[in-house]
Amino acid sequence: MSDGHRKRALVTGGAGFIGSHLCERLLADGHDVICMDNLLTGDLANIEHLFGNERFRFFHQDVTNYIHVPGRLDFILHFASPASPRDYLELPIQTLKVGSLGTHKALGLAREKGARFLLASTSEVYGDPQVHPQHEEYWGHVNPVGPRGCYDEAKRFAEAMAMAYQRHHGVETRIVRIFNTYGPRMRLDDGRVLPAFMGQALRGEELTVFGDGSQTRSFCYVDDLVEGILRLLHSAEKYPVNVGNPNEMTIKQFGEAVLRITGAKSKFVFHPLPQDDPKVRKPDIGKARRVLGGWEPKIGLDEGLRRTAEYFRGRVQKPRG
Ligand code: UDP
Repeated sequence: MSDGHRKRALVTGGAGFIGSHLCERLLADGHDVICMDNLLTGDLANIEHLFGNERFRFFHQDVTNYIHVPGRLDFILHFASPASPRDYLELPIQTLKVGSLGTHKALGLAREKGARFLLASTSEVYGDPQVHPQHEEYWGHVNPVGPRGCYDEAKRFAEAMAMAYQRHHGVETRIVRIFNTYGPRMRLDDGRVLPAFMGQALRGEELTVFGDGSQTRSFCYVDDLVEGILRLLHSAEKYPVNVGNPNEMTIKQFGEAVLRITGAKSKFVFHPLPQDDPKVRKPDIGKARRVLGGWEPKIGLDEGLRRTAEYFRGRVQKPRG
């Protein structure tokens, strides 16, 4: 790609799980990438392999405060936020701040630079849904004062803020509603079901199933998600688009798949279901297929779990003895 066409992208939360995969992909597409992260839940280990690339820069900065980025920017991908239920339960104020103040700052920067802005939103905007599968026109069923309220409402506010900047200031905004995603670089201790089950399976421990395990989720491999996000960034779609894998299963079935792929013989142990834990979740990806040039997930669960297990195998400490 010649310099004239080379674009400059800022990824907030770029040292996180999805953010780091995005940085990698944007570099591979020939863009210059600035990764911004305060490393609260992100990790330099996720991006250290990119430091040798002269088109990559890292700014250790909190997007909740005033952000200054010298030079031109063509794209801002706003991915900074704690994103696992355990993280946002432990960091409720930071979660609210980055979704509200952080989104405001990032949008202000997009306006100033004339950059296109893409917001990482979430299936959590649908709450514990009463419409199944969830399509983009559904307004959701969210408890603002429950333990998940800090995340759900921050992301709902962020969507509203992006729409206001689009309508009022003419900023080009894109909104992706991300459903459960998994893959290498998830944090082993972030409490989400995949790292929890992987860690337990690889250590030969029991798998902690919350509730009776009949609640459902639909898991998307990170490469499929990143492809959908890039297509959305380059599309003309101004309204939210679900990106996820519609392959729905119960959490128990998911646990069985982790055992099958890792070869572990662990049993399940049942813990109480956390408050407001959604009973079902599955994206309707009809709109994504339509507006993202026929995009759909390509990597099946077994293949995705194999790649993820490979990553975790090197990181899980087996108990001694
Ligand atoms: N879950 C579980 N065991 C765990 C962690 C999570 O059974 O050790 C369940 C959790 O109650 C939820 C589902 O797995 O129903 C997905 O949880 P996760 O935290 O990954 O994301 P969520 O979809 O709830 O945001």
